[in-house]
Amino acid sequence: MRTIIEPFRIKVVEPIRMTTREQRERILREVGYNVFLVHAEDVLIDLLTDSGTGAMSNLQWAGVMRGDESYAGAKSWYVFREKIHELTGFEHILPTHQGRASERILFQLVGGPGKVVPNNNHFDTTRANVEHSGAKAVDLVIEEGRHPTTRHPFKGNMDVAKLEALIQEVGAENIPIVMLTITNNSGGGQPVSLENIRAVRKVCDRHKLPFFFDACRFAENAWFVKMREPGQQDCSIREIVREMFDLVDGATISAKKDGLVNIGGLLLLRDEQLVRKANELLILTEGYVTYGGLAGRDLEAMAQGFEEVVSEDYLQYRIRSTEYLGENLLAAGIQIVEPPGGHAIYIDAKHFCPHIPPHQFPGQAVSCGLYRHAGIRTSEIGSVMFGQGGATPAMELVRLAMPRRVYTQSHLDYVVEGAVELFQQRDSLRGLEIVYEPPALRHFTARFREL
Ligand SMILES: *Cc1c(COP(=O)(O)O)cnc(C)c1O
Repeated sequence: MRTIIEPFRIKVVEPIRMTTREQRERILREVGYNVFLVHAEDVLIDLLTDSGTGAMSNLQWAGVMRGDESYAGAKSWYVFREKIHELTGFEHILPTHQGRASERILFQLVGGPGKVVPNNNHFDTTRANVEHSGAKAVDLVIEEGRHPTTRHPFKGNMDVAKLEALIQEVGAENIPIVMLTITNNSGGGQPVSLENIRAVRKVCDRHKLPFFFDACRFAENAWFVKMREPGQQDCSIREIVREMFDLVDGATISAKKDGLVNIGGLLLLRDEQLVRKANELLILTEGYVTYGGLAGRDLEAMAQGFEEVVSEDYLQYRIRSTEYLGENLLAAGIQIVEPPGGHAIYIDAKHFCPHIPPHQFPGQAVSCGLYRHAGIRTSEIGSVMFGQGGATPAMELVRLAMPRRVYTQSHLDYVVEGAVELFQQRDSLRGLEIVYEPPALRHFTARFREL
């Protein structure tokens, strides 16, 4: 059979409130053409982010009821610890409320002025935490990863020669850790090969540097390795996941992605001295070491989520859904970042509406157009997000992020139809100008006017 079905039945439904084009037109005017300010119940298909927006399974909800809310040493903590240990081999597992809390603890301990942290591409919160510590964040993704239409099976790989050069330039003593983000979120959800992970490990060994993952989408990365990397086809996802984690000294993880939960995070460590200091910080700001800012029920849901995410049926459906959306947009002539990544499709807004110059925010125009035409919410990743203070980002993108197990194929067919119809009327899209912006992070609250 060629048809890949959603590998689940639906037991609980959350109705979507239908809206008309006229209602959405009025809403857009009211919120100043910024979809972040639209009430979620006025959205038909919400592709704003894949973070914390997934659907939990029957067994995860059962875990919520089983949750042991004891302050210390709860049964749920041991269930969670055992599951993560089994999956990753790590002995030291710190629960946190989300990924950035793990990053904050890690970089408070290893960062600091004069330090340099290499990564393929730092995710925004990772970069912010590195820089907040006083250290410098450096992106070393391979050249192919910098070009939106260049196809490469592992576009998230790190350029190992550039890593060597950086170590020569700044000195190994100034690099506290080397990081690799799997999959590479800021680079379009592109995977990193096992071969590349091994090559980075070799460089780290040669210079005695600790090697860490930002492993939010480790299972999606493992699926791409199984599909694309020579010699890996016969390995199970669990074997690939274990092989990946065996190559690193630690990891920060947001469970809001491949943990299949709505809140939660982890910090994995091997170094005993670092573990002691991290536990002290964890207790100071997150919570005791057996719950780390989460409820017992959250730990149960996470344990079950990490079990379900390595299911091959789930991953095939997951990655194929994203690819299906991307291929259908491409087939209609809409340029996207190629090849489709794991968790999102990025529309090239410069190509979509060449009549709108970057200073009139083509990505914002497409994002508003998708909401007005079809009630679809996306996020602009271009001049609104990165252009504050006069910078000109290389790309004007609109991200369609895929919540996990939430939308069916017919929802995606609707998204494709909406985007294609908008593309056919693209000449009617108008540029925007900013009428209000805050001093920083303007994409969340800025207001616009149509030109
Ligand atoms: C989401 C994400 C984070 C931060 O996690 P939060 O749970 O949002 O704090 C860090 N790195 C990557 C690659 C992410 O995708």
